Amino acid sequence: MRYISTRGQAPAVSFLDAALAGMAPDGGLYVPESWPEAFEGDVERANCASMTFNVAASYVIEALGVGDDAARLAGDAYLGSPKLGFPFPMHVAPLVQVGPGEWMLELFHGPSLSFKDIAMQLIGHLYDHALSARGERRTVVCATSGDTGGAAVEALKNRERVDLFVLTPKGRVSEVQRRFMTASGAENVHTIDIDGDFDACQAIVKTMFADHRFAGQAQLSGVNSINWARIAAQSTYFHVASQILCAHGPVNFVVPTGNFGDAYSGWVAKQMGAPVGRIVLATNANDILSRALNTGRYERGAHSYATLSPAMDIQVASNFERILFEALDRDADHLRGLYAQFAQSGGFDIPPTALAGLRENFAAASVSNEETEQGMQTAYFETGYLACPHTAVGLEAKWKLDPPLDDRPVVTLATAHPAKFPETVEAATGVKPPLPAHCADLFSRAERIDALPNDAEAVKRFIRERSRAWS
Ligand SMILES: *Cc1c(COP(=O)(O)O)cnc(C)c1O
Repeated sequence: MRYISTRGQAPAVSFLDAALAGMAPDGGLYVPESWPEAFEGDVERANCASMTFNVAASYVIEALGVGDDAARLAGDAYLGSPKLGFPFPMHVAPLVQVGPGEWMLELFHGPSLSFKDIAMQLIGHLYDHALSARGERRTVVCATSGDTGGAAVEALKNRERVDLFVLTPKGRVSEVQRRFMTASGAENVHTIDIDGDFDACQAIVKTMFADHRFAGQAQLSGVNSINWARIAAQSTYFHVASQILCAHGPVNFVVPTGNFGDAYSGWVAKQMGAPVGRIVLATNANDILSRALNTGRYERGAHSYATLSPAMDIQVASNFERILFEALDRDADHLRGLYAQFAQSGGFDIPPTALAGLRENFAAASVSNEETEQGMQTAYFETGYLACPHTAVGLEAKWKLDPPLDDRPVVTLATAHPAKFPETVEAATGVKPPLPAHCADLFSRAERIDALPNDAEAVKRFIRERSRAWS
């Protein structure tokens, strides 16, 4: 299985190369050359509804070209232990019923309490595996508004071949989020408070990647949500949940969306044979995706809003490029033209046939802060379900969608543990969710954090002095 770039001007590469590179050298995103079936063939493989998560994941990543080590990698990633990785291997992505035909897919039982753990745990093992085979090291950098950082720290801490540098906006992440990034005790993890906002952190990361000399010497690599390995891993739970519930046809999903990574993973599962119906994109006030789908124009907003669901406060949904590529029948020249317009003027009109194709697969709604609070209240007082604010955006989007979904089973993704956002959840419901046992000592662990100005040169110096990958 080879991976090609959505911009059509980079050579095809393997799964591992796509995962290690992050972005393609022509500025595009990697997608598989064709879509394989994940669960076709022998009887053993036929039904993923009764598989443990690691087995299902191993079939998915094997079909996508990981190679012979798929089973071992997925086992290492998901069979965990109380100290490392997933505390309960049979509890990676449980389905919980909250009404007739209504289900929550809980993706927050990993070490940092967000769905990002599911992909990131696989990436940790994948990097170790690929880098030791090649005798190489990497400096991984990531900018985070909260959840990516914690999941990356949990996945890459104490790894022999990787040094991790996490850039966080000073004073803008919650205390629980911060502690997941600062209290790992690992020598190879460096969390840096940047005197600026999330966009400033992201700009520094982009500057470092654009400096080819620095990027080469530091062996720079990124694990943000455009990384193909993350998409591949995430498609597993769409396969499993849809197979469990598909007795009467395809299953609809509601996905709280920021960078469009998770929602795109659902579409990927559908391409690979999963009985997935429509995917609802639930956005907060940062609504570029719901505007795109509902108006046909993909356009950057005037500014980004700080909302109650901070992990979705994103201006540009990077993975949208992947689905647009498909909606344009993989016409890379056409796509490049649209993104050139986007770079110049901040927007483009989605061609009508592409838009029609997108609307067959996706619906979208955006949800205000007030509605997010209402969503947490309704879920708790009417069904007893304590939802994090991101999950509540999903629930509200489902309830307000017009026209509504058909009456097949609908699965809403619960993307973070409510205890990750205790103040917001308590303000809405009166209930302060406790941390689960595996991280109950989070507040007593020692923290380590460095502070740097909003200056790419200062960050480069910091990395040069500390990264073991420097050459
Ligand atoms: C990252 C995140 C999202 C958004 O996921 P995307 O793949 O960027 O769309 C939603 N909820 C939570 C809790 C997150 O951490």
